[in-house]
Amino acid sequence: MKLLIVGGVAGGASAATRARRLSEETEIVVFERGSDVSFANCGLPYYIGGEIADRNKLLITTPQRLHERFRLDVRTRSSVEAIDRVGKTIRVRDLVTGREYQETYDKLILAPGAAPLKPPIPGLDLPGIFTLRNLQDVDRIKDRVDQGVKQAVVVGAGFIGLELVENLVRRGIATTVVELQDQILPPFDKEMTTPILETLVNKGVVVLLGESAEGFEQDAAGLVVRLKSGQSLPAQLVVLGIGVRPENKLAVDAGLEIGPRGGIRVDDFMQTSDPDIYAVGDAIEVTDVVSGQPTQVPLAGPANRQGRIAADNIFGRSVKYRGTQGTAIVGVFHRTAAMTGASEKALRKMGRLFRKVTIHPAQHAGYYPGAEQMTLKVLFEPETGKLLGAQAVGGAGVDKRIDVLAVAIQAEMTVFDLEEMELAYAPQYGSAKDPINMAGFVAAGLLRGDHPQTDIEAILKTPEADRPYLLDVRTAQEFAAGNIPGSVNIPVDELRARLSELPQGRPIAAYCQVGQRGYLATRILLQAGFAVSNVGGGYRTYKMFCG
Ligand code: FAD
Repeated sequence: MKLLIVGGVAGGASAATRARRLSEETEIVVFERGSDVSFANCGLPYYIGGEIADRNKLLITTPQRLHERFRLDVRTRSSVEAIDRVGKTIRVRDLVTGREYQETYDKLILAPGAAPLKPPIPGLDLPGIFTLRNLQDVDRIKDRVDQGVKQAVVVGAGFIGLELVENLVRRGIATTVVELQDQILPPFDKEMTTPILETLVNKGVVVLLGESAEGFEQDAAGLVVRLKSGQSLPAQLVVLGIGVRPENKLAVDAGLEIGPRGGIRVDDFMQTSDPDIYAVGDAIEVTDVVSGQPTQVPLAGPANRQGRIAADNIFGRSVKYRGTQGTAIVGVFHRTAAMTGASEKALRKMGRLFRKVTIHPAQHAGYYPGAEQMTLKVLFEPETGKLLGAQAVGGAGVDKRIDVLAVAIQAEMTVFDLEEMELAYAPQYGSAKDPINMAGFVAAGLLRGDHPQTDIEAILKTPEADRPYLLDVRTAQEFAAGNIPGSVNIPVDELRARLSELPQGRPIAAYCQVGQRGYLATRILLQAGFAVSNVGGGYRTYKMFCG
């Protein structure tokens, strides 16, 4: 058997090493266009900022090492230019010598990844404007920064864009981020990004939303970024992080099936429309676990697992890929945002019915030093309580909660399962009622009718005259420090004695700071015969919507 692999980083290297573990006899050749294989793409921004000081740490392994340990024939600076599916050969170009040659295959795995998007913006080729994909890109950006950059513009406030922003700020560079959408981190629901936006602003980052770069020019001081609004930004460094497109040219030219968004189409076994060709990673179309629809999800975890699965299937183990649920995490300074499954806006787009809860628990017991509040949003089916998606933003402990919820979604669990989950607890790690349990209690209470809830968004969209009676059950001091306009303050501890002040026959929406006292107030008022609901996530969620 002769196995050829195109691309030697996440998916390609994973497929190659797995293949060797399954077969000592197979001839395995990995072709990589770049100079390096198996490098840490995800660590690149932190090398610019200096957090990763040693460039060698970005090289997870080398061609020599892969040969010594796995007997892989790794050919770097070797670009695969074409596939002849009938003759089962590929054409390879040695980028050092320019020589072209053919190589035969029994099985071929395509793992060419995705290339950064470069829209046709005038001036995009000027010196000082970069994208970030590999070590050569990072060297160029770092060189520029080391020469002394005072102002930088990052175009795109997605995951990579914000990681770059953080690292440029760390280098003392005045940084502006320009984002086309009206929010940062577009995969998240907008309100969930508010704490990250605040952090960026507090760190001195200028965040321009609903804005785009329309052109780049050069002047004596460096570059000028012309924006759609007419504004101009001076900069000595510009980095584009506006997304990626699948590297599908080889597959298209070879006549393999391609999805509508350009991803190479594969079945559950990573097999393309040609049974001898497999494809993995950022270049392929995957099935979204929640919607069941084809999508593109350029993430390292799926690419690595798919590489392994492709090798398994080639060597006779029938292993199915379960689909991708988009579990992702990003650190922005001291804050973390993470998500899994569908967002609220994705569910709306699908036309899918859902309910949601938002809670603001601490990551561990409040009495133990270092407790930090996080915001956790969970989306689920109204009928069954089946989990559809989750997002969290905060500091420590966000990663753990999203990972637990990612597993729960994969296991097709419901909010009732979250109530029952037994999770590790000691005061410095969690709470006896973990945030996961709390989300389950709130969501399950809502579905059982014990805990009627109103979304603050729905209230804000309702004309003031038609809104429910807004009852703030926090203390008078909390109320005085800020409240939802039009609300009346009766602290929860006084509520039982002041029921006569409340309107009969008008819906009441009770709220507190994060939802807990609002829940108690709701229970008191329900039992007293009032039509009441709790404002989910309380005043804190209101602030996330209103800024
Ligand atoms: P890649 O790892 O990109 O490898 C594809 C390789 O194929 C490339 O090296 C390319 O040179 C080579 N190639 C392409 N065409 C040819 C050809 N014709 N011939 C020969 N070789 C070819 N994901 C996360 O999950 N978490 C993160 O924190 C994260 N951070 C990231 C930060 C940065 C700066 C970047 C760029 C990406 C990040 N990602 C992250 C995404 C993650 O790196 C990718 O999803 C993952 O590497 C995809 O693996 P892949 O094998 O499909 O493609």
